[in-house]
Amino acid sequence: MDFELTDEQRIAQDATRRMVSQEIEPLIAGYDPDQPLPKDATRQLIQILAKQGLTTARLPEEAGGSALSALTVGLILEQLPPVAQWALGAQEVTIARIYRGSTPEQRARILPDLIAGNKITCTGTTEPDAGSDPRSIRTTAVEDGDHYIVNGTKMWVTNASVCDVMMVTTSVGRDENGLSRMMRIVIDKEESPFTTRKIPTLGLKSGHLGEATFVDCRVPKRNVLGETGDASRVLTETWIANRPFMGLYAVHLAQKAYDAALAFAGERVQFGRKIAGFQLVQELLANIATAITSSRLLCYYALSCIDRGERSNQISAMAKRYSLAACQRAISEAMEVHGAMGISTELGLERLYRDARMLPIPDGTNQILTLIEGREITGIPAYRA
Ligand SMILES: Cc1cc2nc3c(=O)[nH]c(=O)nc-3n(C[C@H](O)[C@H](O)[C@H](O)COP(=O)(O)OP(=O)(O)OC[C@H]3O[C@@H](n4cnc5c(N)ncnc54)[C@H](O)[C@@H]3O)c2cc1C
Repeated sequence: MDFELTDEQRIAQDATRRMVSQEIEPLIAGYDPDQPLPKDATRQLIQILAKQGLTTARLPEEAGGSALSALTVGLILEQLPPVAQWALGAQEVTIARIYRGSTPEQRARILPDLIAGNKITCTGTTEPDAGSDPRSIRTTAVEDGDHYIVNGTKMWVTNASVCDVMMVTTSVGRDENGLSRMMRIVIDKEESPFTTRKIPTLGLKSGHLGEATFVDCRVPKRNVLGETGDASRVLTETWIANRPFMGLYAVHLAQKAYDAALAFAGERVQFGRKIAGFQLVQELLANIATAITSSRLLCYYALSCIDRGERSNQISAMAKRYSLAACQRAISEAMEVHGAMGISTELGLERLYRDARMLPIPDGTNQILTLIEGREITGIPAYRA
């Protein structure tokens, strides 16, 4: 077993760190991190990442993809600030989903603007009454000549409130078990107008988690992707890599909290000595370091399983569920090292805590991930009666 990164992976990490300090941090520095980043700045952010080939991370080389391994993409994502992780995450995965099952004409027409970051995109699956169970979606698509008429609401969609193009899962009827027969369709806001709004949230406030409402939205049939019924498979295939990616988003936050706690413990003096010298403070620091290292290794391992083409449903669910719990606890412990300063909004540690609290929900809640692990272990799916 080899725990060394390859030269290519180290170069990718270093190049990302340089891009963050030279291009991304100067771009976002002028904006309040607790306010949504304006659309123009979000677009510029995606364009910077696009130049590094990151919007095509999961496309095959012959389609202009950057041919990065899942592990290398994870190493890169881990270095990015949360606002970039989320804007890119939604953009990149939607491009990968649109690519799957689309025709050469659709790829040539839809993808170039998304890949370059000229248009912001996202995937709308969740609805007010359908979250963990996407097969219960109610957004309908009804045929009308050479169009579909789409009606419904999508909620909690990353990038929704600034998007130009959304890949939407719609229901075109029910199967014998009453579950939606899901069809994927690309809806371009300019061509087929729909309304969006940002949903205020506890964390990730600089992002654009939002809602989209489609009222008699006429969408050309040429925007239908793949085959009816392929949506669950396409979503699941992409969630498998997304889960360790999100584990690494948590590692990024916990690492920031750890760096701050270690520095603080080395400076703060109580009872006539630096608090870093107290055994119980050392225990907090040791706990945080253990959480970061174990989470990081588990996510890297899950991504390397994906790269080897192994069935990775269990390890990917495990990596997300474990890392998010471990890193959330680690951030809380880093706040504890800071005493009252830990909860000060001036310091910003509490923002890491708020951001981390958002992560266990998308792409499989803790409960759903537990059940995926259980299904992989026992062979018995437990989430549907
Ligand atoms: C930061 C963030 C980004 C997101 N981005 C997107 C996006 O880009 N696109 C998109 O479509 N959606 C997105 N979502 C939505 C996300 O996918 C859903 O919120 C998630 O699937 C859970 O759905 P829900 O919130 O409706 O909760 P529900 O599914 O209603 O779950 C409520 C509770 O019941 C539990 N539960 C549900 N079913 C079971 C079961 N069978 N067994 C045990 N417990 C169960 C859940 O674990 C949870 O604790 C995002 C959400 C967040 C927070």
